[in-house]
Amino acid sequence: MARIKSHGTVPEIAVRRATHAIGLRFRLQSKRLPGKPDLVFPSRRVALFVHGCFWHQHEGCRRSNKPKSRTEYWDEKLARNVRRDLIVREELAKLGRSVVTILECETRSPDFLKQALIERVAAISPSNHARSLPGNSPLAAA
Ligand SMILES: [Zn+2]
Repeated sequence: MARIKSHGTVPEIAVRRATHAIGLRFRLQSKRLPGKPDLVFPSRRVALFVHGCFWHQHEGCRRSNKPKSRTEYWDEKLARNVRRDLIVREELAKLGRSVVTILECETRSPDFLKQALIERVAAISPSNHARSLPGNSPLAAA
């Protein structure tokens, strides 16, 4: 199991901790994948990003409020981040990866976070190509 690197942000560390607590196996920062996902779940082919609400302009979130000064600068900079997120998401989809995003404001409550990870990551069954669920007939395999 990979050692937890020291440079993780507080939300990233919260996500790793919650992921570990619900028993999901993950790897840290995959530099080979577009956008360098913060966590990857190889058997599920999931790439997970922990996004800051401000930098990634979480819609409707109070943490995403833009500064009142240098508005043009910020508008442009943040719009570029959002565009890049979309491109990365498309590139990962082309590589057969599901993309899961956890926002900074979702990492505040460990219980909420665990639930979100169960719904968004654990719900994706490991490797669709070699599915072998107990009790399922082979017909279920597409
Ligand atoms: Zn938010």
